[in-house]
Amino acid sequence: MSKSAAKKIQAIRGMNDLLPSESPRWQFFEAKVRQLMHRYGFDEIRTPIVEQTALFARSIGEVTDIVEKEMYTFDDRNGDSLTLRPEGTASCVRAAMEHGLLHNQTQRLWYQGPMFRHERPQKGRYRQFHQVGVETYGFDGPDIDAEVILLSARLWQELGLLEHVTLELNSLGSTEARAAYRDKLVAYFDQHHDVLDDDSKRRLTSNPLRILDSKNPAMAEMLNGAPQLMDHLDDESRTHFEQLKAVLDAAGINYVVNPRLVRGLDYYCRTVFEWTTTALGSQGTVCAGGRYDGLVEQLGGKPTPAVGFAMGIERLILLLETLDLIPEEALGGCDVYLLPMDDNATIVALTLAEKLRSELPTLRLQLHCGGGSFKSRMKKADKSNAPVAVLLGEDELAEQAVTLKFLRDDREQLRVSQAELTATLQNLVPH
Ligand code: ATP
Ligand code: MG
Repeated sequence: MSKSAAKKIQAIRGMNDLLPSESPRWQFFEAKVRQLMHRYGFDEIRTPIVEQTALFARSIGEVTDIVEKEMYTFDDRNGDSLTLRPEGTASCVRAAMEHGLLHNQTQRLWYQGPMFRHERPQKGRYRQFHQVGVETYGFDGPDIDAEVILLSARLWQELGLLEHVTLELNSLGSTEARAAYRDKLVAYFDQHHDVLDDDSKRRLTSNPLRILDSKNPAMAEMLNGAPQLMDHLDDESRTHFEQLKAVLDAAGINYVVNPRLVRGLDYYCRTVFEWTTTALGSQGTVCAGGRYDGLVEQLGGKPTPAVGFAMGIERLILLLETLDLIPEEALGGCDVYLLPMDDNATIVALTLAEKLRSELPTLRLQLHCGGGSFKSRMKKADKSNAPVAVLLGEDELAEQAVTLKFLRDDREQLRVSQAELTATLQNLVPH
């Protein structure tokens, strides 16, 4: 074999395998999310991972980080330009329009899945990452803004995260109000042109609001003195924002108004928000969203008010792990290891395993397969991390019984008849 052929192929940088030791944590999180969406009356939508490039260019905005430098774009065999989705909102709008979900009706949707952005991989930032998102259509009042924020707050509450995250809020106003503010902002930045870094100079003509987002300390003082969007809101947006805050106050949800929160995507208007944490270093935003009333029309549909958010699953799992908030039962493993002691016991063991699985549907039972010496069988039982091993040897077969061996605590082993095994396990294993 040539040297190059022998070289092992590895995963793509920034794209991670989810190993069996980690997947139970994800399943724990995903189950919480699914249950919550169900309780709030949100329905799941699944869209393809690949879309026409134009969909993202037209919705996210030509001069955003995502479209300028982060998309995985390629020509397919027909020469059509396709892109691996960098976020979920554009696809969701596309699908809802395409299937008439926005005709004289409201929608509350959620989705989950991989997103792709060509960024510099680091802790909390990957090239394939996963989001859970919600999108609502047809509601123009602040009640739905509050509803999606409350939904996210309940998720933090149930995960034990609420005290570790902060809700930041801002209003971007109407498109017109923002355009007028933009002119004032550009005039201010022009006066302080010498302080602007290269990135900001570039954004001055393309996307000046994004300059407010800059973390460059050399610009901090200048940015603090910049005119604030909050002082230039149209009356309707101001009322909308006040009402949203009133609902959050009534619900006891703490928030901080951050007048420099502008979000990186072009399609937002009025309410924008982020949930942030200080426990993850610089990748501190775990959930972000807002209102995007103009997007459906921009993509060729009828004007449709819309509100949504997306959360980053990797960052949330990292946060749960950092704070040690993943419960023991969400860490995988099994309850019982059923062990035929020699090959004569195989058939009885298989039959017994199936019987137990029928009678105890929540029991996690692993059956020993693959034979082996007595010693190696016992080793496998130990490695399974099950608290109880059910042994089937020659004596047990003769007596139609089993021996229960307790692998984690110091307790006498127990001989139980096969007929009584279901009842015994039911008491032993808390389910
Ligand atoms: P950031 O400022 O961290 O780059 P963003 O504004 O680009 O975030 P959004 O497009 O709002 O992020 O996506 C929503 C959420 O998805 C983020 O708050 C974050 O939790 C997660 N996310 C975004 N990009 C990545 C990434 N490359 N890797 C992991 N998670 C990500
Ligand atoms: Mg980003």
